Amino acid sequence: NIFRPYRDNSSGVDINNLSSQMKLQQNVIPYLSCYFNASSIVAGKCLDSNNRIEIRSPYDPEKIIGKVAWSNEDDVKMAFKSAVNFKESWIQTPIKTKSKMASDLANLIEENKHELIALNIMEAGKTFSDSIDEIREAIDFCRFYASEVMQMEQDFPTLFNDKITYKYQGKGICVCISPWNFPIAIFIGQIVAALVTGNCVIAKPAPQTSVIAFKLGKLILEAGFPEHAFHLLLGDGVSLGNKIIEQNNIDQIVFTGSTQTALHIRDKIAQVETNMIDIIAETGGLNVMVVDSTALLEQAAIDIIHSAFYSAGQRCSALRVLYIQEDIYQKLIDLIIGATMLLKVGSPEQMNTDIGPVIDKQAQNMLLTHIERMKKLGKIIYEQEQFNNEGQFVYPTIVKLDSINELTHEIFGPVLHVISYKPNSLGHIIEDINNQGYGLTLGIQTRNHILANYLEKNIKVGNTYINRNQVGAVVESQPFGGMGKSGTGPKAGGPLYLKELSKKNINL
Ligand code: NAP
Repeated sequence: NIFRPYRDNSSGVDINNLSSQMKLQQNVIPYLSCYFNASSIVAGKCLDSNNRIEIRSPYDPEKIIGKVAWSNEDDVKMAFKSAVNFKESWIQTPIKTKSKMASDLANLIEENKHELIALNIMEAGKTFSDSIDEIREAIDFCRFYASEVMQMEQDFPTLFNDKITYKYQGKGICVCISPWNFPIAIFIGQIVAALVTGNCVIAKPAPQTSVIAFKLGKLILEAGFPEHAFHLLLGDGVSLGNKIIEQNNIDQIVFTGSTQTALHIRDKIAQVETNMIDIIAETGGLNVMVVDSTALLEQAAIDIIHSAFYSAGQRCSALRVLYIQEDIYQKLIDLIIGATMLLKVGSPEQMNTDIGPVIDKQAQNMLLTHIERMKKLGKIIYEQEQFNNEGQFVYPTIVKLDSINELTHEIFGPVLHVISYKPNSLGHIIEDINNQGYGLTLGIQTRNHILANYLEKNIKVGNTYINRNQVGAVVESQPFGGMGKSGTGPKAGGPLYLKELSKKNINL
């Protein structure tokens, strides 16, 4: 069943049988042929500009989704001015009011799910099932942070017959920079967390998914968040992002994206900052799964396919390097190849598509260059036959490596690298994995508890998954985030996240 219900309270999409799946599709279809305009939203106003471009779909270059008006430097200045003037009143607004706005936003996302699913399919190229999961995650973020923030202001009795009030309040101005691969869930998660804790937000989403951001920006205001507390700026990292992070009124940056961009932002603010700016960065990974000879191989094969190829491999948590114990290597590889052959690559408008396009031409070229290099080295062991040269598709590919050190960075797409290992080399393997510096997700497939504990303890990552796939962390139940080059923490959707966005303050 592609519609996995994760949490009861986020079942905005009630589709566990074929007829409701078809009903959902029928409701989404009309939006797939709509034309959308998008622009920045500053102080509640949609700002037009001379700099407008047409947005085309990643799976069909002929399909025009709409037009986006890019922000300019004046828009940046206007957004900061409005946020700076409003920040004290937003800090003083009761948390109960802010929490209610986040809950109302959850309801609005649910009400607008058909349009949002259509936009996610058309603009981000995500499949129906990925889009539904993402709506669910965004709703979870709103409801979880709405409830968490209510725990943050508490009175405690003291031994002296009086009380202390433990208060957290917003830091001031928070810049939220988000990627295109979760244009609904990550965009909403960052912004809602920053707003409920009392920060004024300047949001800069990835340009590839500007139309989705504009739709969500309007819902954020409709939910009641004040027009001076939330501003949306649309544009690319080089021309707009750099101008935003150069502003001298920023108190907090929340960034999700590549490790490279996070390091660039850190260096840049070190040069220009006049405030002490805190950064939360959630970044990329070179994620590993280890399968030993006691594993249930059929189950492992399903989990591997899910972790490496679904979402076109464009999840930060996706499996990149699979270690297989040598005595089961060939058997497992045969199962994986067999299952990969059945994956349907194509337009995400079709409900039975397993793998949609990659986000843009640049991403496609980077992946094809990597595959070509591996081909020249004679390392490809499977490549799905290609039949669609129109959209930006990359077909599932399996590459044999001798060592993880042959990869120097995250390969962000449906390319799985496999390595056969001898049990007595596990110590070296762990050293190699830790030495590459990333630390996001780890998969372990084994029925040997001692081995599972040993790997979990010694491989340094944020999230470890045992005998299941390693993607799709659930808000609250499975807080998500990495260590080392993969992120600063705290984990998104976890108990520490809101505290990190707040100033702590004890009043007696
Ligand atoms: P990216 O290229 O690093 O971009 C992320 C965001 O930063 C985009 O909005 C981007 O705009 C912006 N940006 C780039 N340069 C900037 C600058 N100088 N100043 C301000 N903003 C700037 O990442 P992406 O390609 O969008 O997303 C994929 C990456 O995100 C992968 O590495 C993936 O692993 C990671 N990711 C991590 C997590 C996690 O939770 N750990 C979750 C999702 C994704 P432009 O696109 O215009 O450059």
